[in-house]
Amino acid sequence: MLPIDPQADIGRRAWVACPSCDDARDCAPCREQLTCGEHWRYLLSNTGSLLHLQCPACTHVWDHETGFGATRHHSA
Ligand SMILES: [Zn+2]
Ligand SMILES: [Zn+2]
Repeated sequence: MLPIDPQADIGRRAWVACPSCDDARDCAPCREQLTCGEHWRYLLSNTGSLLHLQCPACTHVWDHETGFGATRHHSA
């Protein structure tokens, strides 16, 4: 497992399904794309609409293309 990135900040989170552990697959709030209190990812950085994320559960790091301007809020 990777260490949690030093840039990781609990104040900057993103609600994106982890492609590695898929821990949110059975979670109702996540399925409805709500801001689940258990399943969230560290938002390490972003470049435009490309988010650089780390999963706190399995420490997987990946890039997620949102396809729209990145904000810290999920589009409602
Ligand atoms: Zn994960
Ligand atoms: Zn969840």
